[in-house]
Amino acid sequence: MPDIRPTVGSGALVLNVTYEPLCVVSVRRAAILVLSGKAALVTDGDGILHSARDEIPVPSVIRLTRYVRVPYRTHVGLSRRAIFARDGWRCAYCRGPAQTIDHVFPRSRGGLHAWENVVAACAKCNHTKGDKTPAELGWRLHGGAPAAPKGQAWRVLGHRLPDPRWADWLDIPLPETAAAAA
Ligand SMILES: [Zn+2]
Repeated sequence: MPDIRPTVGSGALVLNVTYEPLCVVSVRRAAILVLSGKAALVTDGDGILHSARDEIPVPSVIRLTRYVRVPYRTHVGLSRRAIFARDGWRCAYCRGPAQTIDHVFPRSRGGLHAWENVVAACAKCNHTKGDKTPAELGWRLHGGAPAAPKGQAWRVLGHRLPDPRWADWLDIPLPETAAAAA
């Protein structure tokens, strides 16, 4: 299985008039919103964007000039990448780099493929664990019982890795890997 590395996307975080984070859009889309007066630049990214008449800093965070009501997605899909993101790209058993997904209560014994029964794991722990439960091996789960991710940041980002410049606006700790990539 290929290793999935988190990457910081070149998007811009969009804030409502109330400074509540709404979504992530492409840098190009964010620039159009700023140039058309629909949003104001809050935090600059790296570099300058040139248009026919204007030039503006690459937007990293923008704030809409009019209030927008948005229906929120409440369910976070269960994917390999989302599980890695929830678990900070670390093995739930030894904290080594995550390489695979482990079913805490083994699937071969009826364990479900659900947020509450999956964790990121390294290949070694996953192999050693086999068809046993953590209790049978005397292992413990770092971070306690797994659960579906909740909160504002997941609503806005899904499993997308946040740009460190967005940290002021999102109530989440940045993964170590995000800080390293910045
Ligand atoms: Zn491990």
